Amino acid sequence: MRTGRSIGAVLLAAASTIVVALTSTAQAVAAPPAPGRDGVVVSVQKNRDGTITETAYTPAPGVTAKDLAARLTARGVPNVKVADEPAMTTLAAACSSGTARTWPSSATCFVRWAYNGYARPQIYFIDHSGSAWPVGRAVTKWNETSGIDSVYRIPSSGCPGGGIHCVHVYSGNYGSGWTGLTSRTLNAAETYYTGATVKLNTYYSGTEAEHWNTACHELGHVLGLDHNTSTGSCVYAYRSSQRYPNADDFNLLERYY
Ligand SMILES: [Zn+2]
Repeated sequence: MRTGRSIGAVLLAAASTIVVALTSTAQAVAAPPAPGRDGVVVSVQKNRDGTITETAYTPAPGVTAKDLAARLTARGVPNVKVADEPAMTTLAAACSSGTARTWPSSATCFVRWAYNGYARPQIYFIDHSGSAWPVGRAVTKWNETSGIDSVYRIPSSGCPGGGIHCVHVYSGNYGSGWTGLTSRTLNAAETYYTGATVKLNTYYSGTEAEHWNTACHELGHVLGLDHNTSTGSCVYAYRSSQRYPNADDFNLLERYY
């Protein structure tokens, strides 16, 4: 009896070792990036007044960054670049918090919105988008950041002015290639945002969660965030069903505001 049990235990242990070995081998082989997960697409335009407009495109599912860049260039978008997602380890600690990171300009780690006399910068999102896009709910979540106020506003209420930054959010059929974009204009010194616009693309269908994800993602770019390496954040580089930022996104914003 004892001997039988021992042999059984040995066999079981051997089988476990084989399973562990097989699993380790499988994990050691790096999977190639899925289509549309091979980089980020940005166009950078120098304006006549010295300001710079950067536009970041969220690639549509199944569209590679290279393909998206080629399509945009063919449509006349200037200076389209494909950038690799840099490894978090290459970033200065000041430019990242956990899985989140800032959207860096060439001059600084973080480009911010001016306070203009307020205790916190005031970002009013003027929502021109269709009802399929949960922009209001995305704004409400981002407003949990303590250092910068995100306010939702319908177009008929207009932009109040007086130092309040108004960011217009549109939806429309903008053609294939991307699901959402954010254009941010920086002052010539690349230290402050002077304006931003968001476009949500109705060309691709999506679930409510995916639409919410796109709205949350683009609004995160407006506030100054670059992509988050965690799929648990809506600012992960590619479309998902994640509707919220993660704690690192909030922590990073609060470091700068
Ligand atoms: Zn993005």
